[in-house]
Amino acid sequence: MNFLEERIVRDGIVKEGNVLKVDSFLNHQMDIALFEKIGEEFKRRFEGKPINKILTIEASGIGIACIAAQHFKAPVVFAKKAKSISLEGEMLVAEVESFTHKCKNQVIVAKKFLTEKDRVLIIDDFLANGCALQGLIQIVQHAGAVVEGVGIVIEKGFQPGGTIIRNLGYQLESLAIVESMDSGTGEIRFRPQDR
Ligand code: 5GP
Repeated sequence: MNFLEERIVRDGIVKEGNVLKVDSFLNHQMDIALFEKIGEEFKRRFEGKPINKILTIEASGIGIACIAAQHFKAPVVFAKKAKSISLEGEMLVAEVESFTHKCKNQVIVAKKFLTEKDRVLIIDDFLANGCALQGLIQIVQHAGAVVEGVGIVIEKGFQPGGTIIRNLGYQLESLAIVESMDSGTGEIRFRPQDR
């Protein structure tokens, strides 16, 4: 098991409905030393790629993306989930269905922060059905920018998102891939990775 898988086994809680709760270290309380290792690992896996911007989605992706960005020396742009009165100018918009909240959201990025000059690494905390990622990919495409890769902290491999994104031809790196989890026993099994 890698450092992240060990932490998930130690502190993750399997909930009914295929939800893995990791709010004690990843997406509510945040363990910054762990984020630092996650950022290093993303840097290693995307070594050599000409990444000049990181794109994520509010809220849980932001902290992870910010720490990772220090390794890429690139700014972070996060997609906003609702129209904010402070958003000005032309917008890039995509529709995203939320796995956790079971509702549809528009995700929005101001055009001026994503342009055809950008080579983008997309980062998020979870990959489940892939809706959030597909929305972010659409936004990058609308901007005329290039997706250099996708970095995910936890992929739920038994849900279709990973296969969809890999089949689209993107380099998708998930630091832990949960193969199965059982809310009755709490057991979590990971897909072996050779990286
Ligand atoms: P997708 O769009 O791939 O179905 O879901 C991705 C988003 O749903 C992630 O950004 C994450 O916020 C949330 N999510 C999906 N599955 C889980 C889960 O098992 N646990 C938690 N905490 N969040 C999840």
